[in-house]
Amino acid sequence: MSEPIRLAVVGMGKIAHDQHLPAIAANPHFELVASVSRNGEATDGLPLFKSIEDLAASDVTVDAVALCTPPQVRRTIAATAIANGWHVFLEKPPGATLAEVAALTEAAEAAGLSLFASWHSRYAAGVEPARAWLAGRTITKATITWREDVRVWHPGQHWIWEPGGFGVFDPGINALSIATHILPNAFFVEQAELDIPGNCAAPIAARIDFRDDSGAPIAMDLDFRQEGPQSWDIVVETDAGTLTLAKGGGEVSLPGGETPAGTALHGEYPGLYARFAEIVRAGTSDVDIAPLRLVADAFLRGRHITVEPFIE
Ligand code: NAP
Repeated sequence: MSEPIRLAVVGMGKIAHDQHLPAIAANPHFELVASVSRNGEATDGLPLFKSIEDLAASDVTVDAVALCTPPQVRRTIAATAIANGWHVFLEKPPGATLAEVAALTEAAEAAGLSLFASWHSRYAAGVEPARAWLAGRTITKATITWREDVRVWHPGQHWIWEPGGFGVFDPGINALSIATHILPNAFFVEQAELDIPGNCAAPIAARIDFRDDSGAPIAMDLDFRQEGPQSWDIVVETDAGTLTLAKGGGEVSLPGGETPAGTALHGEYPGLYARFAEIVRAGTSDVDIAPLRLVADAFLRGRHITVEPFIE
């Protein structure tokens, strides 16, 4: 195997600690060399920098960075990384706007660097078998239900309620990353309602009606106020029966109890880092903006409704 890719992680919040650090430690293609954090502590005694500029000014040699900050600040950090000649792994969503992702894609290409717009839910165990089973089938209807308790899953994450924080579309875009991957036809926003608390800039709930280009309706129900059992489900009705993908893509059920083929080998974040190593070694990028484009379209096409303030 070639030399490990020397990697720095930027933004040491929940996802960096819960998923990135263990996945990096388990992957021999990567060597963690530093972290960048305004408030955090050094990881395993490695160098810690307050900003990406401080990292660039240091004598630490870096090949790639993984950006785990909120989306609103990701573009400038990514642009600085590319300017320094580093490959870039973007947490989802890849940016706060479509234009900035296009600009980063062009900058990475011009510099001969790899840019990875990661969509972790696509690496959940049931997703690939669902995609394989749905390929070539006729879809008659789909429903996406993503209802979770924001107080449990996003405590203290004020950025999520700010412009560019996506609100309930922060988890909702995970559902769309799966749906755009497994459904055989392109689909579009026909109408949407976005419930925005009076004291917030981003929606706490949303209902979106999509239609695919064969005419099948796809209804999406997102809600951050779900207490009790949580739902991360996609149900797809087809000419050959109904497929259900539950637990955020983790479990697939086929009609008649048929056994799914080709389950995922890695798990979500190990799968993402395997893919990042692959594109860095191959000198390519992997940037699919389809989920972000649908979220942007829901904001463009949807009715914005003011609802009661959200107090965490
Ligand atoms: P988080 O816990 O709030 O962590 C984000 C970290 O980014 C903060 O701890 C902070 O770290 C840094 N940061 C915040 N504001 C910043 C700013 N203005 N400038 C520079 N750095 C800033 O959020 P998270 O849950 O880890 O989510 C981060 C990203 O990962 C989001 O895009 C989210 O959608 C995605 N994600 C989250 C999850 C999840 O389950 N939580 C799952 C998958 C993906 P420092 O104090 O170290 O600077």
